[in-house]
Amino acid sequence: MTLALNSAALQMLHAWGENTRARSYLHQPTTAAELQAVFALAQRTGISIALRGAGQSYGDAALNSEQFVVCLSQMNRITHWSPANGVVEVEPGVTLAQLWRHCISDGWWPPVVSGTMFTSVGGCAAMNIHGKNNWQAGNFAQHILEFTAVLPAGNSVRCSRTENSDLFHAIPGSFGMLGCITALRLQLKRIHTGLVSVTALAAPNLQTMLQLLDEHKDSSDYVVGWIDAAAGGTGLGRGQIHAASYYNPPYAALHARSLLLQHQDLPARLFGVFPARYAWLGLRLANNAPGLRLVNALKYASARLQHGHTYLQSLAGFNFLLDYVPDWKRAYRPGGLIQHQSFIPKENALNAYQQLLEACKNARLLPTLAVLKRHQPDAQYALSYCPDGYSLALDFSARVRTRQRLTTLLAQLDQIVVAAQGRFYFAKDSALHPATARASLGAATLTNLMALKQRCDPENLLQSNLSRRLLPELHSME
Ligand SMILES: Cc1cc2nc3c(=O)[nH]c(=O)nc-3n(C[C@H](O)[C@H](O)[C@H](O)COP(=O)(O)OP(=O)(O)OC[C@H]3O[C@@H](n4cnc5c(N)ncnc54)[C@H](O)[C@@H]3O)c2cc1C
Repeated sequence: MTLALNSAALQMLHAWGENTRARSYLHQPTTAAELQAVFALAQRTGISIALRGAGQSYGDAALNSEQFVVCLSQMNRITHWSPANGVVEVEPGVTLAQLWRHCISDGWWPPVVSGTMFTSVGGCAAMNIHGKNNWQAGNFAQHILEFTAVLPAGNSVRCSRTENSDLFHAIPGSFGMLGCITALRLQLKRIHTGLVSVTALAAPNLQTMLQLLDEHKDSSDYVVGWIDAAAGGTGLGRGQIHAASYYNPPYAALHARSLLLQHQDLPARLFGVFPARYAWLGLRLANNAPGLRLVNALKYASARLQHGHTYLQSLAGFNFLLDYVPDWKRAYRPGGLIQHQSFIPKENALNAYQQLLEACKNARLLPTLAVLKRHQPDAQYALSYCPDGYSLALDFSARVRTRQRLTTLLAQLDQIVVAAQGRFYFAKDSALHPATARASLGAATLTNLMALKQRCDPENLLQSNLSRRLLPELHSME
């Protein structure tokens, strides 16, 4: 690995949503010792470091303009696997795809996954991600038994519920600001088949959507809603719920084949016909107001036809629906994609989400996708974002032509969220303002985060475009 500074080594890195990018000096350590050497170089040169897993954050969380980016994707070994108890030891660059593919045939599955399988385990821990089963399973970090992190001074700390337990609850979720996770021990979830039993339900408005999510949250392992963001009036917030549970019939052995990779792999052709790799072209064609209205109306009509229908689906197919269309973000080029995801306590959710959907309609900026989830609080972590409530994720095209209007709309949405005592999620953020971030985090969380930063990274080496954009005070402490 070259540790010299050479402007020719500057590389362009993109946010996953392709709404922003930055040139950085890229380092790709293969061992913890190589990582420590980069920290030492940063200390000598005063150049900051952003950590990067698989670069799947929608915005600027893993970018660092004209400074160092340390990408962990080459530290990607599964170092120990115990099929007897489902405990796995991994380096941080292991992707969720690598993980489930390694363990599923032994009857184990990662208990919390993102909507894409291409995230890294280190990135999932650093953002403390949530899945469609957040109400039942909590966040990613709840399934970490132990991790090791290298702090910017070069020392390693081992963290578990009993050892350095304060850092065990602080480093996950703190978006790479306190230390670099270099090894993790995870507890996977026992499964008896590679299937989930899914029930689809249509809901005529937002109130029913929220009610259905709530009603099914205790009886199902997963519950997630799609909203027709084009609908208005009495149909505002109408959509479809999918409630799913791990399939464990009396004769599960009859379904043993479902644990094989060939049963889980996503199809190369959609509906058995269209090559999946070109499907983004179809999405691109529909990525305009009339197209979105038509697609939403057709999807809602099909949701009504499917109402009450129960079927079996592979775990990979259910969890990684977004991966059915490889590279679907190409449908948003050249401006990219911005997601606005807000987390709102249950008491305030109906009113706030009605306001959000109405604001989008008034601004004539239709979300291309709107997804609703139910959450359990994650207050045990230093930087928490999940309340006892719901989240609504709204995807927008960040076209140059409408970018200014979108910026205005996003600021308006943020104010609605703050007024409803809501939270934001840095893994998805691209547009939040520092004042809004502070208002949503609250003074106590911020003070605690600053104290942790001072303790773990007093020389302020860990930074990112996102941290400087949202919490500049983190980097300007005495
Ligand atoms: C299509 C799609 C669907 C998604 N669905 C979901 C979802 O359902 N739920 C959800 O919660 N998120 C979801 N996400 C967001 C994604 O899970 C998070 O952004 C996740 O952090 C990405 O992991 P990564 O490995 O790509 O990390 P990166 O994006 O590379 O980095 C994320 C953060 O982690 C830090 N980091 C990375 N590695 C380390 C490390 N080893 N030690 C310390 N810090 C580190 C980085 O500095 C950065 O702040 C989705 C993203 C996409 C693209």
